Amino acid sequence: MQEFLNAIKLRLKGNYYAQRLLKPLLQSVRSLKAHPTQQFPEREPLIVSAPEIEAPPSPSAFLHNIDFPRTNEVVQFPVLILSGWIAFDKAYQITQLEFGTELGYRFPLTGGDRPDVEAVYPHLAAIGFLGCIPIDAIQDAASYFVQFQLDNEQHRFPVDCSISLPDIEEFINRKQQKRQRLQTLLCCPICKSEELIVAIARLDCRNCGATFKTTEQGFNFLSQDLVDHGNVQPTNNVSFRSYDENVLSLIREFPDGLILDNGCGMRDVYFDNVVNFEIVDYPTTDVLGIGEKLPFKSGSFDAIVSFAVLEHVRNPFECAAEIIRVLKPGGKLYVAVPFLQPFHGYPDHYYNMTSSGLKNLFEQDVEILEAGVSFWGKPIWTLNWFLKSYVRGLPAPVAEKFKQMRVVDFLEYPLNYMDQDFVAQLTPEVDEELACNNYLIARKLTLEKSP
Ligand SMILES: [Zn+2]
Repeated sequence: MQEFLNAIKLRLKGNYYAQRLLKPLLQSVRSLKAHPTQQFPEREPLIVSAPEIEAPPSPSAFLHNIDFPRTNEVVQFPVLILSGWIAFDKAYQITQLEFGTELGYRFPLTGGDRPDVEAVYPHLAAIGFLGCIPIDAIQDAASYFVQFQLDNEQHRFPVDCSISLPDIEEFINRKQQKRQRLQTLLCCPICKSEELIVAIARLDCRNCGATFKTTEQGFNFLSQDLVDHGNVQPTNNVSFRSYDENVLSLIREFPDGLILDNGCGMRDVYFDNVVNFEIVDYPTTDVLGIGEKLPFKSGSFDAIVSFAVLEHVRNPFECAAEIIRVLKPGGKLYVAVPFLQPFHGYPDHYYNMTSSGLKNLFEQDVEILEAGVSFWGKPIWTLNWFLKSYVRGLPAPVAEKFKQMRVVDFLEYPLNYMDQDFVAQLTPEVDEELACNNYLIARKLTLEKSP
């Protein structure tokens, strides 16, 4: 039993940290450097407490944790994604936060808020850090560390991971092989013409004239038109996901087929029979594009996975129709979307769905084999997320009182609470995140003002 609990705890930890991973793109490193104070994005979809560690014994001491890479991890991608946090005395500041190697290489890390850590250690300040470090730059080093200035003193702690160059080389080869295989499945995402002219660094649609980019390892269908259509926003977020058992069983079911992982995020495993489709160019992304306009021929995939994606698209109906179009007749579909999850931005968050809403998106085209609430969808996650955010949105003394309330205290008619501090002093941000409803007031554009 204890082993089981430990395994669950580890899993939670992985998932939680995973959600805070940062953008691994080499090109994004430049923009990260340009915005060193950019805040960390919201978590999604789960919230788990930071590990319980005693408070530091003296003002100049600190607590730290590396979320990613995991301890002793063998890095197999061409980018080392580093993320974690440091908690320290509120009287001090942390500066010159860097990743380094014993050979003298230094990489400035991006700092960000960690309200989740501060919620666990309310008497401390916390700073998050992230960096996407090119493996080329650190492959000759034997040891890695994070270093920083705290109260004008330099501190460092090790990053325990190793780099496997043969694995990275193999990974790149596999990406290139998948790219070859995919080439025959592509169509123009805009007009759906199958007449795409493949050139060295670009793809041209013979029918509508649209032009897209290719790289050595994949395809980029994020033309400006499609970026606008999907309202794709630049982001430093890394949506990091492990495969759940439902996905793994699909991957095993079609060893020689192809599975579309639609809006896959950054994956920690790379499968040859899975096409990683994303709006963000993670190391594991195979094809860049938007879900509303898939760049694949009809009936291309044996199975399609869409996990926690459809709440983030502007037009879930269009995305659902595209999923059905590119799925083979008889092909399998696995979709999960949040119902009572709070607002979580990346790149925006539009529509949550009830169980009926989810079925309504697909049921005229599929035979539903199974529908329900997953392990990660149990209402306890809703309660936990809701209460954690609520506490975070209150001034510290009010939060302390709020935490002492009992479940039974919340069963009264809410009107009785409206003038109490824990309602009146909740921040507008958390009001929005946890709102029971949203409204807008508007005026129709006049003809003169319409474009
Ligand atoms: Zn076209």
